[in-house]
Amino acid sequence: MAGNVPRADLLGLTGAECIAWLRSHLGHADRIHRAVYRDLMADGRFEPGRVPAFRLAADQSPGLIERAAALAVPDPVPPVIDAIRVEDPVHGTTIKVLTRTHEGHRLESVLIPMGGARHHTLCVSTQVGCRMGCTFCHTATMGLVRHLAPHEIVGQMLAVIRHTGIRPRNVVFMGMGEPLDNPEAVAQAVRVFTDPSGLAIAPRHVTVSTVGRVDGLARWDELGLSRINLAVSLTAADDAVRSALMPVNRAMPLAALREAVSRIRVARGDRILFAVVVIPGVTDQPAQLDTLAAWLHGLPALVNLIPYNPIPSRDWRAPTDAEVTAMWQALVDRGIHTRLRITKGDAVMAACGQLGDGRRRGGQAVA
Ligand code: SF4
Repeated sequence: MAGNVPRADLLGLTGAECIAWLRSHLGHADRIHRAVYRDLMADGRFEPGRVPAFRLAADQSPGLIERAAALAVPDPVPPVIDAIRVEDPVHGTTIKVLTRTHEGHRLESVLIPMGGARHHTLCVSTQVGCRMGCTFCHTATMGLVRHLAPHEIVGQMLAVIRHTGIRPRNVVFMGMGEPLDNPEAVAQAVRVFTDPSGLAIAPRHVTVSTVGRVDGLARWDELGLSRINLAVSLTAADDAVRSALMPVNRAMPLAALREAVSRIRVARGDRILFAVVVIPGVTDQPAQLDTLAAWLHGLPALVNLIPYNPIPSRDWRAPTDAEVTAMWQALVDRGIHTRLRITKGDAVMAACGQLGDGRRRGGQAVA
């Protein structure tokens, strides 16, 4: 009988933690864990009676299957309620996958083709909504509804694998929500994603992106994030402009952010990614670029230029290709390592800063 033992959500546990749970509650462990995980990836359900290793163990431990079924959450992988595809013959197909939490909130994850679709990156959400209030971001208009638990972050990956048959190589914490506003759950999800006995994603293929939460960055090593990549949403290096665009800057201004990122240890040859949204007439002005270059000087920085994606609540327009290229050239001329990000998924509001709205502007529903 389950008694008062809470049900375990296996998706939120690393292999070692899952084995410890199995051992302490059921007396059986190692040989069962891999089989359970394989079944979860295949169809999302935990039914111990289907797992041969459970049946074998039950021969020596009558009632094991019933005890396990009573203890574990039976359907931990969230249901896919919609999936919207944007076909691109050159770069591959971007898919926005919508899943649902147990109480009905929509979670959004985006599967992004990389390298001509030779491999894929999954962008996961860490909160329902977000309270950081960035003015260029549609998710901000929702406010924070609630934090996601580790199994709800990992569950997005399992749902996408089951729905698309694609196993992403990379995972980026850049979807709805500010990861370092929910640091414990994000750190646990990173441990589960990189666990060799589970999804086994290489730490160098995991990126956590922050709006610049200095408090979270100060805990980067303590949270166990030192082997993964850091991305910082910077956009401007002038306090007045950044505070107007990103309210977090009022509480955690650029000097504090500069100090926090300078303490992050980066492996030789690696760089911290700084995202800069290209907003014509706002972030691309020469004085802004001078300030940006000065702020980045001495950091192992790679600037990622992201063309602004128009959202219904703002009047800014998207930059032209020529404007984005001009800003890239201007930063390179100032000695800054800079790359352009091709915007994928904007037709279904799956592009950067556009998550959090179910309205479609194109694309094809596949679910
Ligand atoms: S850009 Fe990120 S941190 Fe800022 S409001 Fe949007 S989801 Fe939150």
